[in-house]
Amino acid sequence: MKRAMKKLAIWVVLLSPAVALAHPGHGVLPGNSLWHWLCEPLHAAPLAVGALVAVAALRKLLAARPR
Ligand SMILES: [Zn+2]
Repeated sequence: MKRAMKKLAIWVVLLSPAVALAHPGHGVLPGNSLWHWLCEPLHAAPLAVGALVAVAALRKLLAARPR
């Protein structure tokens, strides 16, 4: 469990710079709206990758858990 959480933390740190890019200046939706963060590929792609990694880590954790 500790190892999986450490791996997850490393991925979050690796992916966070892509999510935290400065505003404004890109995209067609205002930078302060939720839709900007959900629809702009620059933000949505890293969030989607992060979510997939988190789901994969959680599935692996649950599969490895003794019953
Ligand atoms: Zn943006």
